[in-house]
Amino acid sequence: MKFSLPELPYAQNALEPVISEKTISFHYGKHLLTYVNNLNGLIEGTEFDNSDLDTIVKKSDGPIFNNAAQIWNHNFYFLSLTSKKGSAPDGKLAKAIDAAFGSLDAFKAEFNKATVSVFGSGWGWLVKDTDGKLSIVKESNAGNPLTRGLIPLLTFDVWEHAYYLDYQNRRADYIAALWDIVDWKVVSDRY
Ligand code: MN
Repeated sequence: MKFSLPELPYAQNALEPVISEKTISFHYGKHLLTYVNNLNGLIEGTEFDNSDLDTIVKKSDGPIFNNAAQIWNHNFYFLSLTSKKGSAPDGKLAKAIDAAFGSLDAFKAEFNKATVSVFGSGWGWLVKDTDGKLSIVKESNAGNPLTRGLIPLLTFDVWEHAYYLDYQNRRADYIAALWDIVDWKVVSDRY
């Protein structure tokens, strides 16, 4: 299967001032595109030639895994964001968040703490297990919770390329600002 860039549901300047057009142009238009091109080259002639992305992420390792998981993670990240500020989790997800963390604000605080503390490059995730129970997990590099049987609901990219142009070393400020542009409708539908 040949992979390509996902279409973004917003203009490249639509997430400003939280994420600048310049960051999107590099992050989506160059970093993600490189993973797409790499994966298309790497899988040629392998057992993964006709596999979908989920299958490759679950079954591969090494460079094929790194590039496939980075595509999966970035698609998920970019499609979790919106220019329409002020959405909120729907009833079912809101209840699950309250049950697991106490409140939406308490969840955000715990998520921020975990994600700020990812050492080096990686991702912070809200996931559910097969019983629907929520938790927050951290992954390094291209890590994806699918490989551990967890179902991703939301992810924040904390590779420096995601925020350095706009926030330099201030990862915590980037994470705090991201909440303004999370598309809770999309996240709720995943739950
Ligand atoms: Mn990234």
